[in-house]
Amino acid sequence: MNTVNDYLKKGSTDIIPILSLVLERSVASIISSSDYRVSKKEAVKLNEMIAKRERGVPFAYLSQQKGFYHLDFKVSEATLIPRPETELLVDIAIDLFDENDDRDILDLGTGSGAIAISIADKRANWKLTATDLSVEALNVAKQNTKSDISFLHGSWFDTVENKKFDLVVCNPPYVADDDPHLKDLEFEPILALTSGRDGLDDIKSIIINSPNHIKEDGYLLLEHGYNQQEEITKLLSKDFHNITKFKDYNNLDRAILAQLKSEVGL
Ligand code: GLN
Repeated sequence: MNTVNDYLKKGSTDIIPILSLVLERSVASIISSSDYRVSKKEAVKLNEMIAKRERGVPFAYLSQQKGFYHLDFKVSEATLIPRPETELLVDIAIDLFDENDDRDILDLGTGSGAIAISIADKRANWKLTATDLSVEALNVAKQNTKSDISFLHGSWFDTVENKKFDLVVCNPPYVADDDPHLKDLEFEPILALTSGRDGLDDIKSIIINSPNHIKEDGYLLLEHGYNQQEEITKLLSKDFHNITKFKDYNNLDRAILAQLKSEVGL
């Protein structure tokens, strides 16, 4: 029978969190009780998880959860794993309006619900609507929320018809179809990742259609690829002003906030 120490010695990827997950013990107790003998049942589960992780399955899909902002989110292979850089969108959104105001916020392509649920949890007076094209993703998002969020199924603005919002926020797919970086993301839903030759197809569609869904002086907030800020600024400049650009923790261009020009919103 193997001990924890035998597993630790093999040194496979993420072995400590995998042991912690399967044996339901803290990381500290895994390390301090490394002579613990793993049961047959636990060994089967451990070997299965180690093999999956070695094949490249992200740890978040093994644990089926990921921390984001101040909350833990259930994730599945139908949802993108929330990225730390996406927390930037929540930071920007929650500072846009007075927290006591009644505001309508739309999160397009919500996935696990990370953005919408984090905003709703921080801003109880704001009414959140969240959409996704994937029914499976919406089911995950619904399980993640404790707030009163309207979840709608469909593509981008198709879901909200004539409704207008104070803020439309979106982390769209923005990776180019042939980006070599995609090979590292093969276990995540391609629907949530790629968007045409230059990765801008969905962003273009959202920018073109958003003026019909943003209230006067309302905002559009988008996450984007590190090399897309200039092009997106051009696309926004027809209907938006007060364009503000943001960098992520790695100092890469990552988000853009724009206010609808008054005459467009009328
Ligand atoms: N930021 C992600 C990545 O490149 C992509 C997420 C997205 O397309 N929205 O890993």
